[in-house]
Amino acid sequence: MSRLALGVDIGGTKIAVGAVDAAGAIRARRTVATDVEAGFDAGLARLVQAIDETMAEARTDPAALAGIGLGCPGPFDEASGRIENFYTLPGWEGNDIVSPLAAHYGTPVRLVNDADAALLGEALAGAARGARIAVMLTVGTGIGGAALIDGAILRGAAGAHPEIGHLVVDPAGPECYCGQRGCLEALAAGPALARAGAGLGYADAEAVFAAAAAGAAAAEAIVARSADAMEMAVWSLIHAFLPEVILFGGGMGERHFALYRDAAGRAVARAVLAPVGAIRVVKATLGNDAGMVGAAALMLEDA
Ligand SMILES: [Zn+2]
Repeated sequence: MSRLALGVDIGGTKIAVGAVDAAGAIRARRTVATDVEAGFDAGLARLVQAIDETMAEARTDPAALAGIGLGCPGPFDEASGRIENFYTLPGWEGNDIVSPLAAHYGTPVRLVNDADAALLGEALAGAARGARIAVMLTVGTGIGGAALIDGAILRGAAGAHPEIGHLVVDPAGPECYCGQRGCLEALAAGPALARAGAGLGYADAEAVFAAAAAGAAAAEAIVARSADAMEMAVWSLIHAFLPEVILFGGGMGERHFALYRDAAGRAVARAVLAPVGAIRVVKATLGNDAGMVGAAALMLEDA
């Protein structure tokens, strides 16, 4: 029996724990509410219980584990284990989530950016399997990005994670919370479509997509603008990384994959300087499990 690691996917609404083997198969799993309002200590206690139950079902124990990988929305401080995200995890910022788990279980524990974890998962057991160079865009409430270079996740200066959602695709575009104008995220993430649709009476991004599909011209224009933004971003990503695989994941990325595939395809078709015949645009296949599998894969690699 191959060694197991625990992968944990920490989200704003729920935390998923899985015992994952070296092939990326999930042997046991639990999901608990994040419930950030109840505070960090209560969340940590729920996580410990979910870990204990997952280990029991997988018939493993901390001494046999390769470790516990924690996929978490950034920013966080990897060295101190401190969560610094006040947007998705309000009230948890400033708390060290790594040390208490490492001390309690006596096994290695690491934080990994959730977008990086998702691509690691897809590289081990999903749509990026076998790829040497891949770029993944996770489209939903925000737009996360990750790059796989020579089979390893790209980490930047000081170990930081690339912020592909903040590629500028329209310098005259709407303001982004990062201080820039016209970032990909400010034009194509769910809240951007919701904001553009609010003035037309649409409740959220999905309402805009539905109206566009039904032929409402104003909704079609909003969706087309987001697709144009994605096309511009993919153009830059193609030329920066020359990826073999471009993956779209996340809730919106998977539900509306055809839109993003076509937008990326338009960029690929125009890219005369790139080896476009060697570039594939694919949909992520692990869905919500990608981050959990990838966080575990990191620990299995370390071991
Ligand atoms: Zn930005």
